[in-house]
Amino acid sequence: MSKVLIIGGGAAGMMAGVFAARNHHEVHILEKNEKLGKKVFITGKGRCNVANACDTEELFPAVMSNPKFLYSGFYSFGPQDVMNFFEEAGVPLKVERGNRVFPQSDHSSDIIRALERELKKAGAKVHLHTTVKEIVKKPEAEKVTGVILEDGTFMEGDAVIVATGGFSYQSTGSTGDGYRFARELGLKVTDISPSLVPLKTKEDYIPKLQGLSLKNTGLTIKNGKKVLYEDFGEMMFTHFGVTGPMILSASAHIGAKLAKAENGELCAYLDLKPALTKEQLDARILREFETGQNKQFKNVIGVLFPSSLTPVMLELGGIPAEKKIHDISREERQHFVDLVKAFPFTITGMGEFKEAIITKGGVSVKEINPGTMESKKISGLYFAGEVLDLDAVTGGYNLQIAWSTAYLAAQAIQ
Ligand SMILES: Cc1cc2nc3c(=O)[nH]c(=O)nc-3n(C[C@H](O)[C@H](O)[C@H](O)COP(=O)(O)OP(=O)(O)OC[C@H]3O[C@@H](n4cnc5c(N)ncnc54)[C@H](O)[C@@H]3O)c2cc1C
Repeated sequence: MSKVLIIGGGAAGMMAGVFAARNHHEVHILEKNEKLGKKVFITGKGRCNVANACDTEELFPAVMSNPKFLYSGFYSFGPQDVMNFFEEAGVPLKVERGNRVFPQSDHSSDIIRALERELKKAGAKVHLHTTVKEIVKKPEAEKVTGVILEDGTFMEGDAVIVATGGFSYQSTGSTGDGYRFARELGLKVTDISPSLVPLKTKEDYIPKLQGLSLKNTGLTIKNGKKVLYEDFGEMMFTHFGVTGPMILSASAHIGAKLAKAENGELCAYLDLKPALTKEQLDARILREFETGQNKQFKNVIGVLFPSSLTPVMLELGGIPAEKKIHDISREERQHFVDLVKAFPFTITGMGEFKEAIITKGGVSVKEINPGTMESKKISGLYFAGEVLDLDAVTGGYNLQIAWSTAYLAAQAIQ
């Protein structure tokens, strides 16, 4: 039996704690907050998209950084294992669009409570208001001996699992301490950047649409003529740009490309009627025109869009709002069709860490054994969750990374 110190009582720390304690180790979770799982609480807008009910091999394309490193983790503790774990722990689950798994109750607190119950049942000890300042290793050998807390207390341990999370949404406790621990111990940490973030835009008509949410929209992002990213889904306009699931996923793909683009800008286009081809859309508009030949343009196109979008479509459409339908030329109509199929805006920047769902970069996976999550250099030192250089798109994949890596670390401890 080993004494296991787990730094961080978030998703990875709690899951590692359950399995290490079930394996009869003496487990101590050291969490600086007043409660466990503060970030888990806000996941999935408070509903917690706890996993993605896809086949294990389908997880890999959703991982943006170092997917191959996760082979052992995903195959040892995959989506079905996560779902079984929570169902057995008393949380009935449901699967929604895109295989997203949520608690049936729609309450993330049920996920946290289930983990707390399992920790207690297995005999793990939870120390709240406990900040770890430093990880200690033997001076003469590459082996951890314990941790030093903020008040200077030394806590001895045979194994230390670093589950301190990333650097985003710092109000939840993830302030990047794990990166510091790793560097102090001579491990490599890759550059970090915010990912799954809203995007900032240039045009002044975007803030006018603030609050407008579009469900079925196509998105194309280009650098000059080169298409960088295409997707379809849900998005929202904000006072500074665009957000929503489709935009957050796009941010994970275009971050580096935006940084390298000329003027630091990329062009983006929304297809506001993706179910219709240009010809079908033109026919649809013509049908509207036929019913109101004497009406003004602004009074006819309203049926095609949400009301807050209509003034902006009029502004960009090139057809005077008061123009009578029978005076609108074919070219004007074609131009309007083009606008609906490619509503333009310019991406000028990414959101910041404080609003990022995930941190890209972290403790280099080259330093870590992928089958055990143990440092290759320092024995008894393990890493799990977002602190590692691993990140995925939205859909329950990031929590899956936390659960899988935590499971491997816990099972590896002798
Ligand atoms: C708004 C939002 C919504 C999200 N929604 C989803 C979703 O629906 N599905 C999904 O898969 N992913 C989602 N994510 C991502 C997911 O929450 C993270 O990937 C996951 O929580 C990472 O788990 P972790 O245990 O590595 O880190 P965290 O959950 O961040 O836990 C780290 C813990 O370590 C503690 N800690 C840090 N330093 C110290 C220290 N020195 N001493 C003691 N304790 C310390 C922190 O207080 C914290 O409790 C979301 C993220 C955000 C911000």
